[in-house]
Amino acid sequence: MSQLYDQSTLHSISTSRSPLLTLPPGVAERIAAGEVIERPVSVVKELVENALDAGAHDIRLEMRGGGLHLIRVSDDGYGIPADELERVCERHTTSKISSVEDLSRLHTLGFRGEALASIAAVSEITILSRPIETALAGEEQPADWITLSGGEIIQRGRRARLPGTTVTVRDLFYNVPARLNFMRGSRTENNHVMQLLQRYAAGYPALRFSLVIDDRTVLQTSGSGDLATTLSELYRLPLNELLYPVEASDGAHYRIQGYIGNRVLAQPTRQYVMLFVNGRPVRIRALQEALEQGYRSLLPRGKHPLLALHLMIPPEEIDANVHPAKLEVRLACEETVGAALTQAIRSILERSPAHPETMRFPGPALANQRRLPGPHRHGLRVAESAEGYHAGSAPTGTPEAISSLRPLAQLQQAVILAEAPDGSLYLIDQHRAHERIIYEHLRHTYAGCSHEGQEEALNAHMLLEPVIVEMKRHQAELLEQRLPMLRGLGLECERFGGRSFLVRSVPSGEGAEQLASHLHELVTMAAEDSADWEDHLLIALACRSALRRGRELGPGEQLALLKALANTAAPAACPHGSPILLHYSRSFLIDKFDW
Ligand code: ADP
Ligand code: MG
Repeated sequence: MSQLYDQSTLHSISTSRSPLLTLPPGVAERIAAGEVIERPVSVVKELVENALDAGAHDIRLEMRGGGLHLIRVSDDGYGIPADELERVCERHTTSKISSVEDLSRLHTLGFRGEALASIAAVSEITILSRPIETALAGEEQPADWITLSGGEIIQRGRRARLPGTTVTVRDLFYNVPARLNFMRGSRTENNHVMQLLQRYAAGYPALRFSLVIDDRTVLQTSGSGDLATTLSELYRLPLNELLYPVEASDGAHYRIQGYIGNRVLAQPTRQYVMLFVNGRPVRIRALQEALEQGYRSLLPRGKHPLLALHLMIPPEEIDANVHPAKLEVRLACEETVGAALTQAIRSILERSPAHPETMRFPGPALANQRRLPGPHRHGLRVAESAEGYHAGSAPTGTPEAISSLRPLAQLQQAVILAEAPDGSLYLIDQHRAHERIIYEHLRHTYAGCSHEGQEEALNAHMLLEPVIVEMKRHQAELLEQRLPMLRGLGLECERFGGRSFLVRSVPSGEGAEQLASHLHELVTMAAEDSADWEDHLLIALACRSALRRGRELGPGEQLALLKALANTAAPAACPHGSPILLHYSRSFLIDKFDW
């Protein structure tokens, strides 16, 4: 197995430059047609990727009028030699490959030599560059520039610049009125660019990125090399307390490194789910599913996590048949990596309680991303108020922590107050705690019984009177097939002619009686046409049989509930994903009381 990449080697690969070549027609034809320049964000993507390919450490992006008036990307990369400046805007001209064989060894983001040509055809473009080699010649060495309009050179000159390249694109689509009509206004375009740059910044934490939109700095990273710091800089929030580091590797096929957000960072869109393969932002459906699987039942429905994970994969494991520059890639070991991701996320999240102290800060500020944050406006204020409450965040949601809790009282007949040995306070939602306990119990019984069906339902609580439920036609067929599995669970049903089913028993245990009044709902879930029907059913069963809020619990019952909760694998979140525990740390009390 070849050595796994780390990011530093990845980046250094591209710091030397080969001469510019025009690809021979045979090679050019075999490379699939490049992405079209559809909108300002496509220009930004190409220019930023060129800067990355040039080994830049500092990438600045400036934009006006939603990118239609101006897009300017400046970098401190290796630059373009003066004698090649004229040709970089020609089609199929690239310094990155010279043959099709090179494609499999490709370490650059670009290689088709088409981007600048496509941009030049629909705008006025100025390329100013000073090659890195001239740095030796001293400060006063000038940089050369050329301006092309509609693909024709209209002006050229020289001026001072540090080594690196600045590409300025003006009046985008001035000669393509159809595209202009299609544009949705600068806010939308600004947003796309912002999101894109956030991804690159999280993809390359060791590089400095800045984005200035209409004279306002809306994004700035320090290039600290630390991903958690980068994420905090991107969202202008002290996220460190709410991010959990992930580190996993099988020593052969993959290494996973990065951060996943606590569930309080759950967001209404997938915008904050960032996955990188060898530094490149990618979308891999199987892995996307694996990520969501890791969070499943820990996030409320319709919510998505905030996370940034880097996968380091040996290049030969990345499917070469799929275009290396495409967002979509395929990995030879997708299943293994997916399982590792799910496992890594699960084991971290299931043990982390909600921190009420910080809860209210990140949500609104992140939601505000739609309004691009002004220079350090939201950021600073939030940072000041959220700081200092978390003196060393211990793994407060672990079973060990919970088994040492001492119940103090019950609040509103719904919440157990408990004291930890370190003097911190826990609030435990009794309904959700019980739900978690029953859910895991059901899951074990269910996993323990064979799907072949059994002679007699174990764990069944016989109903005094069997109940008839009516299904829709397609549900009836599905349900019929699943009857043996349901029996294994203690939910004994039989077909009663047509679309009617007779329910004889429910899973036994505390709260079984409560289930009787929800049979139609439960059996309907058992007939759900989805891959997740089993889990949905278990969750519903747990929910319907769990202790209600409003039930008074004596001290003995409170203690028993906590002990049982401590025996679960995921004591911090109910199966729906809502928090079970709130934890007020001692440092929070000290801070608030000013002790
Ligand atoms: P590709 O990236 O596929 O090679 P482009 O049209 O994007 O094609 O760029 C053409 C060439 O121009 C690149 O191969 C590179 O040699 C040069 N180039 C473009 N942008 C930069 C930059 N920011 N720094 C250095 N060289 C650049
Ligand atoms: Mg390129």
